[in-house]
Order: sequence, then structure tokens, then C-alpha cells
Amino acid sequence: MLIHPKFRGFVCTTSHPLGCKKNIEEQISYALKNPFKGPKNALIIGASTGYGLAARIALTFGAKTNTLGVFFEKPSSKARPATSGWYNTAYFEMKALAYGYKAYSINGDAFTFETKEKTIEVIKKHFGKIDCLIYSLAAPRRTDPVTKKVYTSVLKPVLNSYTNKTVDFHTYEVFDVTIPYATEEELEHTIRVMGGDDWKLWLEALAKEDVLAEGIKTYAFSYIGPKLTYPIYRNGTVGKAKEHLEETSLKLKEFLLSYNGDALISVNKAVVTQASAAIPIVPLYLSILYKVMKEKGLHEGCIEQMVRLFKEDNKVDLQGRIRLDNYEMQEDVQREVQEIWPKVTSRNVKSLTDIEGYREDFFKLFGFKVALVDYNEDVDLNIKIPSIS
Ligand code: NAD
Repeated sequence: MLIHPKFRGFVCTTSHPLGCKKNIEEQISYALKNPFKGPKNALIIGASTGYGLAARIALTFGAKTNTLGVFFEKPSSKARPATSGWYNTAYFEMKALAYGYKAYSINGDAFTFETKEKTIEVIKKHFGKIDCLIYSLAAPRRTDPVTKKVYTSVLKPVLNSYTNKTVDFHTYEVFDVTIPYATEEELEHTIRVMGGDDWKLWLEALAKEDVLAEGIKTYAFSYIGPKLTYPIYRNGTVGKAKEHLEETSLKLKEFLLSYNGDALISVNKAVVTQASAAIPIVPLYLSILYKVMKEKGLHEGCIEQMVRLFKEDNKVDLQGRIRLDNYEMQEDVQREVQEIWPKVTSRNVKSLTDIEGYREDFFKLFGFKVALVDYNEDVDLNIKIPSIS
């Protein structure tokens, strides 16, 4: 079957297996060139795309870590390709197995007790215990496993509505967008989905079943960003959820004391992922940021960030957070972004920003616009994930 991109808003509803395969190979090749001493057995929650996938690749091919990945993806049907996270995982596992590393995956809703139980079973059977847990979920909703209440997250400012410009990266149109402020209930819902509740439930479940090894380290990812995006991000609903996630890390640090373990927050840089494409204003910010950071030789994607997270002795800020966003937040980078921002219009967006780089990364998330892939060639949609099928 021939597969081409199909869009619904900022979501691409198709994905290309061979493009996903090439993306995986590219990330693996970067990890292989950057070896480090890492954990023995890692559990990665949100392991199929974005930062979680890159963490899995960095650990496997940089440190020979055995991994168990949890994610929520769709396999292919007769007429529809699988989601890109499915293909990413299939090709990741095939390569990991070829190198002789253990790699298992669970496709299910990470918020449920059932998925947690299944995960623990696999850990007991294949790893014994885990010494690393990466929590990298970005989800639109969560059902509380006890009350069964469904929470839906929103990307909105808090207290006041906010107007600023954004870009439609399909049409290159730059226009003002006004985002209404969140109700109290929407804010609460977003915190319940994207805050630290589920991270804590995972650690409690794993501890109860005695599958946490001495020295266990767990990481969750946060974002701060510049003042420009504060109203929509850091001071908005998702930013409040991130504050909750960060507070949870302090509780988890105490919880893990008896293991000599640690719960860490890594503040990562802004990158193009399925989650970040959904945030208004951010695509324009990223297009400008890409331009500035590429010109300065500071550009990084998920894999470069994740290798840095595990390989380097990272500095922490006053709140104890690892700051992988240090290049993004560099004074000269942000000054230049701020200088460009007011000047951007539909007419000059191609020259003043790296919107083409943004578009390329967006298409690549779904396996499109990848070099050396022939999109006019028939492809098999039905690719199996070795540990699932
Ligand atoms: P992403 O959309 O690429 O990945 C999300 C992952 O979560 C996927 O593996 C998906 O399958 C999984 N997932 C979603 N719902 C699930 C569910 N119910 N059960 C199991 N798995 C589920 O997202 P990302 O951008 O890599 O974000 C990961 C984390 O990094 C988030 O906490 C995000 O806030 C943070 N972060 C992202 C950026 C950025 O610019 N993208 C920057 C800093 C921090």
C-alpha cells in the first residue's frame, strides 16, 4: 500500500513504517557513538515516541541497558497504518534483539492498575528488579484507577485569556490567536492528568511488589521555557501540572531513601513532538528557536538531550532540577528569539524563522519526508513488535 500524510488539525493520522525505521536507525547510530555507563534494567513509561523513545534508545545502545517500554499505540488494520509509536517500537526491538539486548514492550493504558500489574509480571520474569524508571507520559486524559473519574487535560492560560501570534505550519500563515483561560475544573483536571499522581502510583506499585533495586533512580520530564510562552505554558494549566510533578519528585525522593534511590526532574529543551505540536504559539516559538540554535551550533533533538541526561554529570538548579534546557535558555539565544518574534509575519516567516526545519521534524515524527525513503513504493503495513506479537 502507498501511504501519504493525512492531517486532522495538528495531528497526522497516518504514518510510514519505513520512515519510522530510518528515524530509529538514525537515533541508534547517535547512541552507539556515545557510550556511557548506565543502569542494568530500565522501565520506560511513554517509550514509543519523543523523549521516552529517545531515552530507551540511548540506554539500550549507549549503555547496553535491558529495557521494558510501556506505551499506548495502535497496530495496523487492513486499511490503516499503525501509529508511528508502534512502528518505532517494532524496529527498535528488532535492532535491540539483533544486538543481543533484552527489550520487552507493553501496549496499554499506563494509568490503569492492570497495566501496572502486567508490567510488574514482566519485570519479575525477565529482569528481577529495575534500577531505572523513566516517566515520560504526555496524555490527553486519565481515568483515576480508584474513583474511575475521567480527567481531561487542556492547554490554556490560568486567570486571564491570552493573545499572541502563532503559525499554521501547513499554510505558513502567521496570525493572532486568543486562548481563553481555564476554569478551576479544567486546571484541576490537567493537574490530575499531567501532574505527579500516576508517577507516584507507579513507584508505590513497584515497591509493594519488591521490584525496585538498591540505588533505583527515577526521572520525570518538565519544561519551563522563556517568558514569551509563560502565559500558555509555565503559568498555564500544563505548567501548573509540571509544578505538581516537581513537588511529587520531592515526596518520591523521601520514599526512595531506603533504597538509596533518587527521584529526579529533568527540565528538557523544547522539541517538536506530538505533544508539543498541540500547544498554540509554541510552533512559532520553536521555528524561531530552531533558527537561532542551529546558527549557533546549539541545536539538539530528543536523542542528543537523552544521551546528555545519562552520560554527563549534569548541573542542577536551586530547586535541584537537572537543566538540559541550558542552551535553549542561554541569554544570547533568548535575546535573539525575542528580537525576531515581533518582526515575524506570514510574508517573512520562511526567512526569519526555521519553519521548514520545524515542518521537517513534524513530518518525520510520522515517518514522512525522511531521506532515502521512496514514498511511491508499496509498503507492508503489518509490522509486528517482536515481544508483543
Ligand atoms: P510524546 O507525545 O512524543 O510521547 C508520549 C508517550 O506517552 C508516547 O509513548 C505515548 O504512547 C505515551 N502515552 C500517552 N498516553 C498514554 C497512556 N495512557 N498509557 C501509556 N502510554 C501513553 O511526548 P513528549 O513530548 O516526548 O513528552 C514526554 C514528556 O516530556 C512529557 O512529560 C512532556 O511534558 C515532557 N517534555 C516535553 C518537551 C517537548 O518539547 N516536547 C519539553 C520538555 C519536557
